[in-house]
Amino acid sequence: MPTYEYRCTDCEHDFALEASVAEYEEGLGADCPECGSSETTRRLGSVVISTGSSDPARKGGCCTPGSGCC
Ligand SMILES: [Zn+2]
Repeated sequence: MPTYEYRCTDCEHDFALEASVAEYEEGLGADCPECGSSETTRRLGSVVISTGSSDPARKGGCCTPGSGCC
């Protein structure tokens, strides 16, 4: 099940939601767990597929378009 990473634009808290693609397509209620704000933005390019960890090339990669590498 993919994990979708979000950032709260009010308190800048980062959090992740685990949801099926179908749930995501319907629109997730990604409210900030810290302050309860609904002003959250998805962090693009950071979807982590938790199934199938047999691809070493994908491990440790945290480069995302727009935010560079860590
Ligand atoms: Zn917040």
